[in-house]
Amino acid sequence: MADDIILGIDLGTTNSACAVWEDDKARIIPNAHGDLLTPSVVAVDDDGSMLVGKAAKQRLVTHPKSTVAYFKRFMGVDHKVQIGRRKQFSATELSAMVLRSLKADAEADLGHPIKHAVISVPAYFNDAQRQATRDAGELAGLTVNRLINEPTAAALAHGLNEEQEQRFIILDLGGGTFDVSILEYYDNVLEVHATAGDSALGGEDFNDNLIRAFLEEIGVDEVSLGMEIRQRLYSRVETVKRQVGKNKSALLSFDIDGKTHEWTIDEKAFIDATSKLLMRIRSPMERALRDAGLDPSAIDDVVLVGGATRMSVFRSMVSKLFGRIPRTDTDPDLTVVMGAALQGALVARNESLEDVVLTDVCSFSMGIASVTDTDPRKMTEVFAPIIERNNVVPVSRVEQFWTVQNDQTAIDVRIYQGESRKPRNNLFLGNLHIPVPKGTAGKESISVRFSYDVNGLLEVEVTVDSTGRTYTKLIENRPGHLNDKEKAASLKRLDGLKVLPRDREEVRALTARAERLYSSMLGAERDQLGRAMDDFER
Ligand code: AMP
Repeated sequence: MADDIILGIDLGTTNSACAVWEDDKARIIPNAHGDLLTPSVVAVDDDGSMLVGKAAKQRLVTHPKSTVAYFKRFMGVDHKVQIGRRKQFSATELSAMVLRSLKADAEADLGHPIKHAVISVPAYFNDAQRQATRDAGELAGLTVNRLINEPTAAALAHGLNEEQEQRFIILDLGGGTFDVSILEYYDNVLEVHATAGDSALGGEDFNDNLIRAFLEEIGVDEVSLGMEIRQRLYSRVETVKRQVGKNKSALLSFDIDGKTHEWTIDEKAFIDATSKLLMRIRSPMERALRDAGLDPSAIDDVVLVGGATRMSVFRSMVSKLFGRIPRTDTDPDLTVVMGAALQGALVARNESLEDVVLTDVCSFSMGIASVTDTDPRKMTEVFAPIIERNNVVPVSRVEQFWTVQNDQTAIDVRIYQGESRKPRNNLFLGNLHIPVPKGTAGKESISVRFSYDVNGLLEVEVTVDSTGRTYTKLIENRPGHLNDKEKAASLKRLDGLKVLPRDREEVRALTARAERLYSSMLGAERDQLGRAMDDFER
């Protein structure tokens, strides 16, 4: 039985969480501190140990150079993050550390090893980002049975509580991503009609914009700020941002080089400082509605997911667009993980959920580069979609393409993902070199079949129509994707790291918190805390 358990994991930009399906419902597993959310933050301690979660987050302010957060933004990108003086990690490896920590919490809670997981990803994650998430799972010692789109997970958690049929839109604004999904629930079928989003837009961008507006207001150049001051300002802005939502206005007061600067942020100032982001939020909502062929009035319910949907400016904008107040009865931070646990139970074929059918859609169009004309002077390269975005998955489609030159001996099939007419503006996924018999232009043809599965993995099969010869390719070598050798090297590195034992995490988080408070205090208060810290460490 224990072997069958599939852990549901929400691997978030800001926070992560895990849950299991028990007694017909999702149970969120607390971490070593008893918290349901584990910050997606990794740090190197002074003695070289790796810290993950709360203790690492406390060090963001005091030790910004040896702490890293928001690395989900670099998933699937060839980019290493430096932590401390010597250590460099990819976003995949950092995510693997967070997953290892969640896995350890789940194992401590359940009392047996966990081998399988369903991990949620933003619907707008492309192929490379999805593969990086799978790799992270593998590096954490987990078989990733399924990746589930975050809004779909939220809908799954939400939809099952509903008695009646309904059509709803899920708006998921997290720390770094914005996802929109339109779904319909009927007769135990949860059907995704359309998804859209922006994988580089989230609550953190609001902080950045507010910081920029504040520095402009007080006439301080951003580049003149040291890393530690910037991090301190960042956490002040985070607090103030939340207060504006609650009290309509808040005072941002901040010391730079002994001088106190103040800025009162009311809703108008907030909107002015973040107007470009608010505009960007509109477009995925409008696109999803257009793709689903629906008017805002056809939506029965608006469901909010992700911490940043708590912003009052966001809520009023959404209320205006849909002409209704969004639902807030589900905790925006925990809905996704509950849905992931539910999906885990579906995958494991838990009897109580056998009846629920989930249909999902692909978030991107996928196709190949083709040409508009056979005349070389008029020939322009265009993207020819084979699977269009928002098709229900799994999906398999075939399209035929012809040779364009006399005596052509091969066709280069270049595979892309995206929505631009120009192939080079889309994400290049790989290519296949297909030899064809020589002949006049337009004589030889190939049939290109794209099969896209529920995990967002693409298989391309090309058949030369005249000979019947077939070539297949599972998309590999994507940016940031690890091959077997790299995977083994990463595993060795991660296994070799010193990680703080779970039972010492609480103490470490406490001392890190004390250090953070110490750095923000002055005078007698600071001395008093310093003495308490000395006593504690003795
Ligand atoms: P998530 O990735 O879903 O955990 O979302 C985290 C984001 O939500 C961060 O950018 C937070 O700043 C933001 N957030 C959380 N709570 C609030 C709040 N009460 N008001 C505004 N933003 C919030």
